[in-house]
Amino acid sequence: MNKLDTALVRASLEDAGIGLTDHPSQADLVIINTCSVRDHAEQRVLSHLGHLQHIKRSRPRMVVAVIGCMAQRLGDQLLQHPAVDVVCGPAHLPDVVRLCLEALINKTRSSVTDNWQETDRLDELETSRPAAESPGHAYVRVMRGCNRACSYCIVPLVRGPERSRAPAAILDQVRILADRGVRHITLLGQTVNAYRYRLGEKTVYLADLLEMVSSISGIHWVSFLTSYPTERQFEPILQQMAKNPKVCPYLHMPAQSGSDRILAAMNRRYTACQYIDMIEKARAMVPGIAIAGDFIVGFPGETDQDFQQTLALINKVRYKNCFVFKYSPRPGTASSRMEDSVPDQVKSSRNSQLLAAQQQISSQIASSFIGKTVTVLVEGPSKKADRFGKEDGQLQLVGRTNTDWPVVFTGAKGMVGQFVQVMIQDASPFTLFGTCVS
Ligand code: SF4
Repeated sequence: MNKLDTALVRASLEDAGIGLTDHPSQADLVIINTCSVRDHAEQRVLSHLGHLQHIKRSRPRMVVAVIGCMAQRLGDQLLQHPAVDVVCGPAHLPDVVRLCLEALINKTRSSVTDNWQETDRLDELETSRPAAESPGHAYVRVMRGCNRACSYCIVPLVRGPERSRAPAAILDQVRILADRGVRHITLLGQTVNAYRYRLGEKTVYLADLLEMVSSISGIHWVSFLTSYPTERQFEPILQQMAKNPKVCPYLHMPAQSGSDRILAAMNRRYTACQYIDMIEKARAMVPGIAIAGDFIVGFPGETDQDFQQTLALINKVRYKNCFVFKYSPRPGTASSRMEDSVPDQVKSSRNSQLLAAQQQISSQIASSFIGKTVTVLVEGPSKKADRFGKEDGQLQLVGRTNTDWPVVFTGAKGMVGQFVQVMIQDASPFTLFGTCVS
């Protein structure tokens, strides 16, 4: 979500003729897009602000804007920070550039976080100025907010209840992106499988939307993030994935814990067994499907036995990759009223154990690609060190498969945004390495 919001703000800045620099110390304007999901993310923002406050002493005209969920959560309170000039919640993205220009020209300081459930202008911005993350790939938001009430989660408090966007607006946006050369669309929602939009007598669900988006000329791959583990609409989505070659066989479905006791305390409405049944159904209906997951360790009351059940779940599901987070209480959530009983060093140790278990599984899955040729949509130059060496006029590039594997290979600049075939020769747990064969 934040990557998409950042791309939208970047596009609005470009439209206003504002150029980008990679060096905050040289910038006239610094915009920090923030996340409130974990305390750690907010602490990092405060540390950046401390650094910017220092830079501002020698560059007093510099303007600093804080946008995103932390801006929404703290509002005017954030404006009291000496480094901050503009505070803008996620629903007010269309105002960011105007407020920043006012701050640059008139030295005004402002905060807008009201009417945060009003999204018409945001819809308009997304539809009229769709932003791509890389030349070939774009995120498209299909819904906002969340109706779930997971006890640890701040998202419903800062992004509001579930609101699905009209299919026509989504399809218009995808058509513009396809005309600009985008080939892979990722549909985004906090609980994207809950997408539903009433059109007269008919309700459009995510499976219908996948079909509609995939039929747009120029679009070759469609994926979606993130799915809540529920049987509702699960089969139609899997059927679409099974029969439609453009729908990527990739499912990101967070389990969060393998302990039923902890899942109940988290107010996740499924048991570990039900979750595993869903994964088995997905694998039976879509052979070769790649599964990704999220876990929280150290939730209040998590015992070693609960943790062992989470470890067992990871070993049973054999995810392609997992995101693991240490629990931190978020203000205003139900779990923040529970005692944060697991010591930080225990959280860290459990975090490392899950990551180590997942790394071993990912490494085995990655190695199974060696010797195979995969289709890769090229994103751009690789950030990693040169693994295969450079040939004349050739670059080290990175792209992704339709199951979200990053693939690093040597190729030409003109391949960016295109599909290429890469023969895999080597693998690390989370990246494949190979040679472009066509
Ligand atoms: S489903 Fe996801 S976004 Fe919604 S409350 Fe639960 S964790 Fe938060």
